[in-house]
Amino acid sequence: MIHTVSPIGYLRSCFKEKFAIPRQPQLAPAARGVLELLPPFDQPQAVEGLEQVSHVWLLFLFHQTLEDAPRLRVRPPRLGGNRMVGVFATRATHRPNGIGQSVVRLDAVAPGRLEVSGIDLLDGTPILDIKPYVPYADLRADAHNAMAEDAPTALPVEWLPEVLAQAHQEAERLQQPLVELIEQCLAQDPRPAYQTPSPERRYGTRLWDVDVRWHYPAPGRIRVLQVLRAG
Ligand code: SAM
Repeated sequence: MIHTVSPIGYLRSCFKEKFAIPRQPQLAPAARGVLELLPPFDQPQAVEGLEQVSHVWLLFLFHQTLEDAPRLRVRPPRLGGNRMVGVFATRATHRPNGIGQSVVRLDAVAPGRLEVSGIDLLDGTPILDIKPYVPYADLRADAHNAMAEDAPTALPVEWLPEVLAQAHQEAERLQQPLVELIEQCLAQDPRPAYQTPSPERRYGTRLWDVDVRWHYPAPGRIRVLQVLRAG
């Protein structure tokens, strides 16, 4: 059976590039976005009652990694990026139907517009459905996952003093928690685990309209080198 699905809305996200987006939701509470609902879901009736809910599940399309050939095994970054496991044992983006799911915080509800945070979704992600988080059913105290038992260890993020001052200025302009966002994303160490970067190698991504550059001055250290409004 082939069933066609269509987006109920699109997420406007702080993440303008895939690189450095946390690998799961809630790892960067400062990661914010706005879900803009499409007609007819932009009517007040569609979100009636949602103000009673603190978190929602977003079901979405990994629209930037859709592919035709199904993969049976993938290399999750969590396992170092060089060990293969069955696709259904992972949350990899390359998967049948390209469907993702994330629990995010619901910060504000208005007709046609949901403000969310703790997201791990790229700007422009098509959203297929929204469901309320139901703590008694979704929070499993007895759950375990030996491949990903705990959140990854966070790296302490270092700043050049003038770069931190620049980041505070950009945060003020954007009216967004940009310094926290940079720290929470870089603390996850976005680089592929199999790369051992030299201190000269520069990495970068775009958050909101700001280009962020960093490097690894020594193993286990990460330092922000540049925070510049994109030209
Ligand atoms: N929490 C979701 C899940 O379990 O289905 C996503 C997990 S997936 C490992 C998270 C990664 O997906 C992010 O780090 C980002 O690089 C990537 N990503 C986010 N939105 C995407 C999109 N719209 N298209 C392709 N990749 C995306």
